[in-house]
Formats: sequence, C-alpha cells, structure tokens
Amino acid sequence: MSATIQASALDPAQATLDETIPAGEPWMQRLSKGQIFRIVDLEGNQAVDTLFFNADDPEEHYSLTHTIQAQGALYLGLGSVLMSSEGRPLLTIVADTCGRHDTLGGACSCESNTVRYALEKRAMHSCRDNFMAAIAHNPYGLHKRDMASNINFFMNVPVTPNGGLTFEDGISAPGKYVEMRAETDVIVLVSNCPQLNNPCNAYNPTPVRCLVWDAA
Ligand SMILES: [Zn+2]
Repeated sequence: MSATIQASALDPAQATLDETIPAGEPWMQRLSKGQIFRIVDLEGNQAVDTLFFNADDPEEHYSLTHTIQAQGALYLGLGSVLMSSEGRPLLTIVADTCGRHDTLGGACSCESNTVRYALEKRAMHSCRDNFMAAIAHNPYGLHKRDMASNINFFMNVPVTPNGGLTFEDGISAPGKYVEMRAETDVIVLVSNCPQLNNPCNAYNPTPVRCLVWDAA
C-alpha cells in the first residue's frame, strides 16, 4: 500500500473528548461504535503504542496477523481495517496525514531494553510498564494475558530487504494525525512511548493529543 495522505473535515471544537497524554504516560478510553478517534502527534516523531479490544469481550483484541493478512500489506495507512483476533473489523483508518504506521515493532519493555541496549537500561520506563500500570485497576476486565502485539502509530520500522527490522527516525512531524472510526464498541489502550534509546521518539518523548467525535 502506498502512503496516502487524507486530511479530516472534523473540527476539534466539536469533539466530545479532547485530552492530552503527557510524554511517556498511558491512557485508556472506551469508544462506541461509530465514534471517530484521532491521535495527534503534537511535536512530531512520537511513537504511540496502541492496543484495541472488543469492549463487550476484551479477550478479542487487535490482531496484527489478521490485519496484515486482510490488507495484504505490512504498514497501516488510510483505509486500513484494524482486524481482531476473531477476524472482525474493530476500526477503520478514515484520515491520515502521516502516511505510514508500524505493525511489527511491538512495545518496548525492560526485556527488550536490556537485550537491545544494555543491562543498565533494564530499569528504564517502558510501554509494557505503561500497559501494566493502566490495567492494574481497570473496569473492563483486561488482564496481563490480554496484552497482545500492538500498533505503533507514527513509528517508522522499515523491513529490510533480508527480512530484518530497523528502527528509523520518524516520518511524522508536528501536528500530523491519524483518525479512525470504531466499527464496534472498543477499548483503546495507549502507551505514549517513553523510549529514549532508539530514534522512534527522536530521543525526546513528547505529548500527544486524543480527540473523539460522536457518530455523525
Ligand atoms: Zn515504547
């Protein structure tokens, strides 16, 4: 899929929810079917690790394998349907001014920080820590075992010709956003990535803005 840029006509002043996630923090929100959800990369080059769940049955979660298979492409962009582990559409990307989002890089963790960087990086805050903190007392029944492979919005993880992955500087920029329509009631779980050891956040984690509009 080639990157397609499509702006949205929705007005932030009309949003029913408008919240900023501080750099390095988690965020969780329930969306109703038909609502539109936008994530804005306020300062640019910020990775936004995101999981989605069926709100009525959180054991059904976003599935990278179902999504990649359904669209026949590795990266997410305009028109991508985010598929569930049961093969059902959870959300559809309806506007995108960034052009490409990662499906494969996963979430940073103390384990990956240790293996990729150094033993003394083990204690650094990670997306996995954010997911665990967010679900510690959640009202949706989410458990540790539900933390499946996530999307990295705005993150640039190209697949090399020999099948490896590289973490590159972002292709996003200040104010770029991605917007999606909920195809069923979903729970959104975000880790606004605190990673400081690779260029996914330009070595400088920054806030992102989340907006929700009711169905037209
Ligand atoms: Zn991370």
